[in-house]
Amino acid sequence: MRTSKLRSVFARLGAAAGLLVVIAGCAVNPATGERQLMLISEEQEIAMGQEAHGQISATMGVYPDEQAQAYVATLGQELAALSERPDLPWTFTIIDDPIVNAFALPGGFIYVTRGIMTHLSSEAELVSVLGHEIGHVTGRHGANRMSKAQLATIGLGVGMIASPEFARFGDLAQQSLGLLFLKYSRDDERQADDLGVRYTIDGGWDVREMPEVFGILKNVSALSGAGRLPNWLSTHPDPDARAARINGQIGQLNQDFTNAKRNRPTYFGRLDGMVFGPNPRQGYFEERRFLHPELAFQLVFPEGWATQNQTQAVVGQSQAQDAVVALTLESEADPVAAAKAFLDQEGIEAGRTQTGRIHGFPAAMAEFKVPQEQDALVGQVGFVRYNDNTYRLLGYTLQSKWSGYGGTIADFIGSFDKVTDRRVLDVQPARVKVVNLRRDMPFGEFARRYPSNTEPELLALINHTTPDGVVRAGEAKQIVGGSKAN
Ligand SMILES: [Zn+2]
Repeated sequence: MRTSKLRSVFARLGAAAGLLVVIAGCAVNPATGERQLMLISEEQEIAMGQEAHGQISATMGVYPDEQAQAYVATLGQELAALSERPDLPWTFTIIDDPIVNAFALPGGFIYVTRGIMTHLSSEAELVSVLGHEIGHVTGRHGANRMSKAQLATIGLGVGMIASPEFARFGDLAQQSLGLLFLKYSRDDERQADDLGVRYTIDGGWDVREMPEVFGILKNVSALSGAGRLPNWLSTHPDPDARAARINGQIGQLNQDFTNAKRNRPTYFGRLDGMVFGPNPRQGYFEERRFLHPELAFQLVFPEGWATQNQTQAVVGQSQAQDAVVALTLESEADPVAAAKAFLDQEGIEAGRTQTGRIHGFPAAMAEFKVPQEQDALVGQVGFVRYNDNTYRLLGYTLQSKWSGYGGTIADFIGSFDKVTDRRVLDVQPARVKVVNLRRDMPFGEFARRYPSNTEPELLALINHTTPDGVVRAGEAKQIVGGSKAN
C-alpha cells in the first residue's frame, strides 16, 4: 500500500475512451506501412496514454531514484528517435514494483519495473526490452486493440453499461490494472520483437543479448511457481520459440556484433543500491498482522483468510471466497463526513451508524446493505483518523452469510492501531550491491564469499546462472540488507 491517493486507473481510461468520437476507417500503420482498421487518431491515442500515465505514476509508484530514471529515459529516447514515430511524446518510467515486468501504453508511454531491472545484467538487455515495448507503440498494437474493443461495443449496441454489483467497491477491483497487461496477438508480439531487434541494432547495441532476456524471464517464471507468473511472461508466452526465432534472424544478418555496445559496467553502476524484492516500508504481513512502517499503523486480518498487499489497497478474502475485507486510504479527512459520503452512494442502504474511537483514534462506523436481485450484500465500514490520514476499513458478505461473518468483520475494523515498535518502524528493504569478480567463480563459492539475503535459486537467477553453475568474472549482484521474512 502506497501513501499516494488512489483512484482506479482504468475507470478513468475507460471514460476517456468513451468520450472519443468514433469514426470507423483505416489508417496506415506507421511501422508496417500496411493499412489497418483504426478508430483512434494519433491525437486521441496520445491523450489516452497521457491520461493513464498520470494515474499509473500516482497509483503504481515511480521508483525514487532520479539517476536510474534519467538513465532509462536517455536510452529510451535514443531508441525511440530511431523508430517510425520519433515525434510522439515518448516517456520512460521505472515503476517501484518488485514484479518482473515491462509494458507500454498507446501514445509512447513505456514502463519497466525495478523488478525487471534487477534481473537484467547489461544495457543491451535493457535496450532489447525497451525496444520491444517501443515496437508495441510504433505498431499501434495498443491503440489497435482499443479500436477492436470499441468495435465490439458498437456491435453490441448502445446503452451497455457494465454494472456488476461489486464494481462499486472500486478499490477491490484492482484487477482492472490487469488490463494494462492485456494480451496482444501473437502477430503483434512477433512484430514488436522484430521492431525491437531493428532498433537495438540501429542504435549500435549487441542484439545477441536479447534472447538471453527471454531465458531469464522463463526462469523467473519457473522459480516463481505457477501461481506467481511474472506479468511479462503471462502476456508473452513461449519464450523458447521467440528466442529461437530471434536467434535465427540474427544468424541470417551475417553481421559482426563483436564491437556492438553491451555496456555491462554502466548498467551495473545504475543498479548498485537498487531496492530488491518487496519493499517492507510499503507494508508487510507478519502472519495475519499487517504492519505499515511508513504510516506507522497495524491491522489484524481474519484468521485463515487469504491476504494481499496491493498498491491501492490491502485486501483479505475468506477461504470460501464469500466475504471480503479491505483497507484503503480515504480522501475525506473527517471520519463522520467520510461515512456519510459512503452511505450516500447510489444503491447503498444505510444501516446503523455510530461515532467513537478505535484504539483512541476518532472513528465512524456504519452498517450498510446493497440490494441485489438474489442475495443482498451486507457489510460494515469504518473510517478512522490517524496521524494525517483517514483510513477506510470495509468488510462485506452476502446477507445470508452475515451472521457468520459479522463479528469477524467488526473485529477486523476494531483491530486498527498505531505502531511504536522500532523494529517495525525502522525496517529496510534489501538492496542490490554490485561486486566485482576477478575470475569465474562457482556459484557456491560466490554465495559464501558474498553472503546474500535471498534464496540461492533467486540469487543464482539474477546472476544469470544456476546454483550448480558458475558466476562469470566481472560485475555480479549481491543482495544485502532487508530480512528473509520479506
Ligand atoms: Zn510484447
